[in-house]
Amino acid sequence: MTSLQHNYQAVLSEIARTEAAAHRKPGGTKLVAVSKTFPASDIREVYAAGCRDFGENYIQEWYEKTRELADLPDIVWHVIGDIQSNKTKYVAERAHWVHTVGRLKTAQRLSTQRPSEMPPLQVCIEVNIAAEPNKHGVAPEEAVALAVEVAKLANIQVRGLMCVAKAGSSAEELRRQFGRMRQLLTDLNNAGIAADVLSIGMSADMEIAVECGATHVRVGSAIFGRRDYR
Ligand SMILES: *Cc1c(COP(=O)(O)O)cnc(C)c1O
Repeated sequence: MTSLQHNYQAVLSEIARTEAAAHRKPGGTKLVAVSKTFPASDIREVYAAGCRDFGENYIQEWYEKTRELADLPDIVWHVIGDIQSNKTKYVAERAHWVHTVGRLKTAQRLSTQRPSEMPPLQVCIEVNIAAEPNKHGVAPEEAVALAVEVAKLANIQVRGLMCVAKAGSSAEELRRQFGRMRQLLTDLNNAGIAADVLSIGMSADMEIAVECGATHVRVGSAIFGRRDYR
C-alpha cells in the first residue's frame, strides 16, 4: 500500500469509528477525496484503493484532470469551488455534483448548459453558515428560498446543503454551525424538497461533522498531504 492509500484507509476507518460511536448507520457518510492542487497520478493511487468520489475547486485544473483520467469511467466528480460564469459550461458537461451553488444565476446557467442526455446535475446549496464577510454561499435565512427556486430548474436535482465551517471554531461552535445546517435541511424538507445531503466536514472537523449527521465529508489534506499553491 502506498502512503496515500494508507491515508485513505485511515480516513475511512475514522469515519466508521465515529459513525459507530454516534450510533449512526454504518456507511451513511460518503468520503469525497479533495484532490485540488494534486496531480492526476495521485488520484489514480487513491482510486486504486477503492475511492470513486473526488472533489476539485479550480475548474481549469480539474478540467485537465478529467482529460488525463478519461480511462476511469466510473469516477464521480464533485465540484466544490466557486464557479465563474464563463466556466459553468465545463461543469455542466463533466461534473456529477456541484456542492457550491450560492446564487440562482449559477444554477440557471448550469441547468441550461447541462446536456439533455446526461442525468440531472446533483447540487447542494452552499450556506455561509457563520455569516462571514467575503465568504461564498447564501445567508442561512435565505437558503430554503434559494433551494426552492433552484429545484424548479429542469436539469438540476437539489440534493441538500453544504457549508465550510468558520476557521478556528471550537468544538462547541462547530456543533452549533453543523446543528443549524441540519435544522435547515429539515426546513428544506418541510418546504417540500426531498433533499437528503449534508455536505459538512473537512480534514480538521470531520469527526464532529459525522457526529452531527454529515452525509458527505470533503477531505483533502488528511489524504493527499499538505497543499502547495505555487
Ligand atoms: C480544500 C477544500 C476541502 C478540503 O480541505 P482539507 O482541509 O484539506 O480537508 C473541503 N471543502 C472545500 C470547499 C475546500 O475548498
